[in-house]
Amino acid sequence: MSAHHHERTPRGARFDQSADVLVVGAGPAGSTAATYLARAGLDVLVLEKAEFPREKVCGDGLTPRAVKQLIDLGVDTRPEAGWLHNKGLRVVGGGTSVELPWPELTSFPPYGLVRPRRDFDEMLADHAVAAGARIAYRTAVTGALTDERTGRVVGVEARGPEREPVTYRAQLVIACDGVGARTALSRGIAKRDDRPLGVAVRRYYTSPRSTDDFLETHLEVSDGSRLLPGYGWVFGMGDGTANVGLGILSQSNAGSGNYRTMLRDWCASMPPEWGFTEENAVNDIGGAALPMGFNRTPVYADGLLLVGDAGGMVNSFNGEGIAYAMQSAALAAATVVQALARPEGPARERALQGYPAAVRAELASYYRLGNRFAHALRHPWLVRTTARYGLPRRRLMAFLLKLLANLHDDRDGDASDRLFEVLLRLTPALSEAPPSATRSHRHAKPSVAGRDAA
Ligand SMILES: Cc1cc2nc3c(=O)[nH]c(=O)nc-3n(C[C@H](O)[C@H](O)[C@H](O)COP(=O)(O)OP(=O)(O)OC[C@H]3O[C@@H](n4cnc5c(N)ncnc54)[C@H](O)[C@@H]3O)c2cc1C
Repeated sequence: MSAHHHERTPRGARFDQSADVLVVGAGPAGSTAATYLARAGLDVLVLEKAEFPREKVCGDGLTPRAVKQLIDLGVDTRPEAGWLHNKGLRVVGGGTSVELPWPELTSFPPYGLVRPRRDFDEMLADHAVAAGARIAYRTAVTGALTDERTGRVVGVEARGPEREPVTYRAQLVIACDGVGARTALSRGIAKRDDRPLGVAVRRYYTSPRSTDDFLETHLEVSDGSRLLPGYGWVFGMGDGTANVGLGILSQSNAGSGNYRTMLRDWCASMPPEWGFTEENAVNDIGGAALPMGFNRTPVYADGLLLVGDAGGMVNSFNGEGIAYAMQSAALAAATVVQALARPEGPARERALQGYPAAVRAELASYYRLGNRFAHALRHPWLVRTTARYGLPRRRLMAFLLKLLANLHDDRDGDASDRLFEVLLRLTPALSEAPPSATRSHRHAKPSVAGRDAA
């Protein structure tokens, strides 16, 4: 279907443009979904509110789980292609530090990566365009468009580059619009309060810590009086700067200003030779929420799929979101390709229910475990005990790394992989929305199935 012509629907509404599938947002979730959809021969149009390249507040760190997604997508991850490679995670706490190499696994590569999101997101968006997707930049979606007769999502409303109102039509809409989740909110799909929410802040500093072949995390972060549930990071960017930040499980009594102060104070407690000072700061402190553990459900209802941060898919063990944005995007794209090959109606709908089912199969047990972990982290003794007694025990820490970064082999793994599997099995899977909730939209309360999960 071609762009730039006006169409009329049976209901008489005018559409400025149409596509088979609309993707809202060109972050890692949106560009990944668009790439797979375009490769399958679908006409996919991505609507992105920003002009690229653009900054995205992030730690810029990728674990082997994210690297696997990049490799699946056909992205060149060699150092020659502009990536800074790392070998593992350095964990600092309790007066010691331990370097934990990424595990040797069948399912994941043995290296992680660092790349500024400014580059990373542009590269992925270009990858989607090279695969045949179209992207409209400076186009901000204001809400989903609902067919009043059927209650289904049939497109989106947006504002174009000159702030002019524009409408787009498609058979399906994939919301990849990040933590703000404008599209889902316009359908009344609200954030769940029974799932953990984190907050993260970061800043770049010119620093001798710029080159490091380990991602470094610090377990003990305090606000001056008490230990906080979260961690600090120092990720060398390889360009003379380091990305320094804090990720903390959200406390109701701390506003974003407090988190900025916490980061400043934490930087001041670091060795002076690292240079995390105001003079060396490259930018202002930026922060955003980390929507964790499926905190927005249902992830599919009435023609709208939620992917990545829009579906609250950040890992509550470690605050990592890029790998899961890409993984859920791949699952959503595969589902959509199958669905659109079926006639409209119940058969197609059945295929679309495959998306929540696939997300559940791949992630629900782990996320449920993570949500429990996030809950337990609120007890400072746990962090203290881990730092003091856990860090010196390498085998325990190697297992914790697998657990925290969700890296294990589910077949033919070693003893720690089997222990990981046992933990997953002991944690009954979270359930997503029951089918009945998928018919409701606006004003409807999202499902609370699996409410006990967090
Ligand atoms: C401080 C901080 C540090 C982090 N560090 C890491 C890390 O080191 N590693 C990691 O894996 N994860 C990290 N995360 C999490 C990670 O940033 C997110 O999980 C990830 O970006 C989610 O990808 P996404 O594509 O779902 O959403 P986003 O990356 O947020 O992309 C959403 C896109 O949609 C666009 N958009 C939004 N609203 C609209 C609209 N209405 N219309 C059109 N377009 C719209 C935005 O401009 C954006 O381009 C961090 C997060 C924070 C806040």
